Amino acid sequence: MVQRGLLIIVSGPSGAGKGTVCKRLAELMPDLWISVSCTTRSAREGEIPGVTYFFKTHAEFEQMMKRGDLLEWAQVYSNYYGTPRGPIEERLEQGYNVVLEIEMQGAAQVKQQFPQGVFIFLIPPSLDELKRRLIGRGSETQATFNERFGSVEQELARMSEYDYVVVNDTVEAAVERMMAIITAEACSVPRHLDYYHNLMKGAY
Ligand code: 5GP
Repeated sequence: MVQRGLLIIVSGPSGAGKGTVCKRLAELMPDLWISVSCTTRSAREGEIPGVTYFFKTHAEFEQMMKRGDLLEWAQVYSNYYGTPRGPIEERLEQGYNVVLEIEMQGAAQVKQQFPQGVFIFLIPPSLDELKRRLIGRGSETQATFNERFGSVEQELARMSEYDYVVVNDTVEAAVERMMAIITAEACSVPRHLDYYHNLMKGAY
């Protein structure tokens, strides 16, 4: 019997390092699958359509919203971002732990539908470090930097909506903590009730 996977939601301010940490996590945990979101923003250099994001026009995205193809969606910095619903259910059923790397409005929508999800908030070690990382990745204009950095305080205040906080001081240390959280969650009692009932019926 395949044990259904965990749905893991990772949020945090822009520049906290969600992408890097989740990528490393997937390298270390082969049973982990990172969802690929749809977005209307244009691709940055090096981003691969269908791997980094599915890049959509506004009309295409709105169609997906209308059809109910998205598990959640949000408008962020004047673009739409959303999680395709189908692949999530499929991978969870196959026993994969599924990671959604999304911002807080979307995470709140996921919580309504998957209260049993594991909600992790990734934060930078300091605001100076966050600023340095945002500038360092070279993808921001002055205007987008101001927009992203300007919303940090508001974003950090949403920490209490999450189950866990991971400080991304170094990628390796942050990934280690994430792995510990995932392992502990996978061992939790509520996730073993079916197993227990089957055990008592002599199914194993
Ligand atoms: P970026 O443009 O830097 O790739 O992403 C901007 C923000 O959108 C990040 O906080 C990122 O986590 C979030 N984001 C990416 N994909 C999704 C998604 O499918 N849904 C939601 N709600 N946010 C997303």
